[in-house]
Amino acid sequence: MNTCFPWGHEGRYNDATNALRRRFPGRVQKVSVDGGFTCPNRDGTLAVSGCSYCNNETFNPDYCREQGSIAEQLQEGMAFFSKKYPSMGFLAYFQAYSNTYAPLDVLRARYEEALAQSGILGLVLGTRPDCVDAQVLDLLAELSQRCYVMVEYGVESVNDTTLARIHRGHTFADTARAIEETARRSIPVGAHFILGLPGETRDDWLRQAEVVSGLPIDHLKLHQLQIVKRTALANEHRQYPERFHLFTPEEYLELVVDYLERLDPRIVVERFTSESPPELLIAPKWEGLRNYQFAHRVEKRLAERDSWQGKVLATA
Ligand code: SF4
Repeated sequence: MNTCFPWGHEGRYNDATNALRRRFPGRVQKVSVDGGFTCPNRDGTLAVSGCSYCNNETFNPDYCREQGSIAEQLQEGMAFFSKKYPSMGFLAYFQAYSNTYAPLDVLRARYEEALAQSGILGLVLGTRPDCVDAQVLDLLAELSQRCYVMVEYGVESVNDTTLARIHRGHTFADTARAIEETARRSIPVGAHFILGLPGETRDDWLRQAEVVSGLPIDHLKLHQLQIVKRTALANEHRQYPERFHLFTPEEYLELVVDYLERLDPRIVVERFTSESPPELLIAPKWEGLRNYQFAHRVEKRLAERDSWQGKVLATA
């Protein structure tokens, strides 16, 4: 079969590499930067212990760990990638903690510092749905008039019982509202979900794909649940391992393919797997399986099933 799918290439799902090629003329890479923000679930506003799975040490690559300035981190990150592809463009990826959680003048100064670096084409801002309000979104809409700006929300689950159980400190209604308000300003929206959270079932995850499809989400990241050291979830896993079902790669692959079949084909899928640093990861150990390797397996499995992203939606 040699089909060109709705996303304009022959891949069986709407992948991020091709989406970036459609958006930008040349090769583009995200460069992580620690903007020095915190999070209301860490600083005592909502809680101090954070979400039960969170260890922020997993977020940052080496060039962020020394906490140089935003400019220094970006310069170092861009130099690293430019060795291989000298003409590459970059997006400053504010990933750790909640990168819209500060007074407006602080946000503006930190974003502008990033945008002032030669080679930076735009911003990707990871944050919580309860850390954006109309003023913050208006600032981002203003910036998006002159550069690419994406807001990437940690959503994790569409189920309020789960969100309470993992101590997110917000509801799914908060998430839906933030996504709608962001999209209403024509700002691209990313969303991050964890598949495998305790208390949820395979049916919940497949229903999630349909809920996601009904929201104005542009980019999606899926992650298998990983138990990471120095988290509340690690303590719970040690005491009550029977509460957890950690996927094998094979089982997760089948789930992801079923999920993709229920996902609107307009949504770009950026990732399927987490890759927590081995020294922090407790379980499951997938022997270094990288996201790009898993993505190849997804393509292969979709082809074996003669399936593609949104197939079930299209035939429902
Ligand atoms: S996952 Fe995000 S929102 Fe939750 S505690 Fe960590 S930084 Fe805060």
